[in-house]
Order: sequence, then C-alpha cells, then structure tokens
Amino acid sequence: MSNHALENAAHALREARCAMAFTGAGISVESGVPPFRGPGGVWSKYDSGKFEKSYFRRHPDEVWPLLKEIFFDNFGRARPNPAHIALAELEGAGKLAGIVTQNIDGLHQAAGSGVVHEYHGSTRRMQCMTCRRFFDSADIPLETLPPPCPDCGGLLKPDFVFFGEGIPSNVHHAATELAKQAEVCLIIGTGGTVQPAGRIPYVVKSHGGILIEINLYDTEYSYRTSDYFLQGKAGWMTPMLVQAVLE
Ligand SMILES: [Zn+2]
Repeated sequence: MSNHALENAAHALREARCAMAFTGAGISVESGVPPFRGPGGVWSKYDSGKFEKSYFRRHPDEVWPLLKEIFFDNFGRARPNPAHIALAELEGAGKLAGIVTQNIDGLHQAAGSGVVHEYHGSTRRMQCMTCRRFFDSADIPLETLPPPCPDCGGLLKPDFVFFGEGIPSNVHHAATELAKQAEVCLIIGTGGTVQPAGRIPYVVKSHGGILIEINLYDTEYSYRTSDYFLQGKAGWMTPMLVQAVLE
C-alpha cells in the first residue's frame, strides 16, 4: 500500500457528506471471534446443517448446547478491538452515518457505535418462537438448555439469521437505504462472499459512491470495484485511516 492511497482515502472520507462502513468477520478476528468460513473456522468444526432453522425447531435439545458453546461462551469473552473503536470515534466526530455489519457479535455497539444495522441479527437478543417476544440475551440464564421463554415457556431462538432463514426485511431496507445515500463506503474485513449482504458495496458504487477497502488479502471487491485498497489488519489499518481523517 502506498501512503498515497491512505491519504486519498482519508480525503474522500473527510469530504463525504454521508459515509458508511460495511464490516465482516475480519474485523472481529483480532477480538478473538473465530471466522465461520475457511480453515479453522466455526464450520470446519461444527456441522452447519444443525443450524438450519427447521433442524433447530425439531431438535432444540441437541442444537442449544452447540449454540451456547459457540455463540455465548466463546463470543461472550470477546472485546472490541482498535478497529471497532476507531469506527465509533469516526461516528462521534460526525464523519460516519452508520455501519452495516454481517457480524452477530455486538462488538460495534460495545465499542460505542450508535447506528449499527445488524444484517444477520445478533447474539445479544433472543426471540420466543411461540409468543414472538424479544429478550436481552443477558437476561436469559443458560443453565438449563434449551432456555424456556420467561413469559410463555416456549422455545427461544437467538435472534440471528439461521441457515434457511431470510434477512429481516426492515434491516435489509435500512441497510440498502444507507448504501444509496453513502458517498463513501469503508469495507472492512469482508470479501463479500455471503449474499445478499455482499451486494451492499455494489449499491454504493452504482449510486456513484467511493469504496475504500481494508482487508488482509485481495478480494472480489479489490479486483473489481474498490477505489482504494488498504492492505493490512483491520485493527491496525482502521485507526490509522481514522486518525488521518480526523487530524
Ligand atoms: Zn414466549
């Protein structure tokens, strides 16, 4: 990466009337959240078929201990890293309108970001599949599995998107609207291989926006659409870019 690319990217962000970020697993790896795909990823150790919504409905006794282990015991220990914190600073300075994240770990909010569209939902909430009420995961004890709904005793499901389940239309709508408005989109830690989420940067691009990409390795975005590719770890490159914007 040339310093030139960093300076130009910082300039684009500084000048933008509306900027957004689009984040994926790569921003949370440095926080200790394992990626789902690839070697060493969650799906190399666990059978992803168990996280089909229909399988979960039929076998909650089998699936809930796995959910607890992967998403609550492991994720529960994760803390925001300098990349999450830098994005919260950018929002605080009025230079970031919002984040669309594919992550379900809640680390953007933990870092202090206010406008976060969680495209695939979040581990921070659960929904009862009988009475449809939502609960804060922190209020649901996981000593007995599956945990019963506090109101009706029904089956609780973590409020993230299972396989075979669609993206909540309100989240998709909000994310797409933000992408249409954004003059700059900061892509961090994602190659956009998961659809339909991966199309968000293309919405920005098709409306005349600029794409700034921070990734460890080249992606489809870097080959095809990114205006600036800042290669490096999210937790190192993001604060450097944000510092350049705000100084
Ligand atoms: Zn209920």
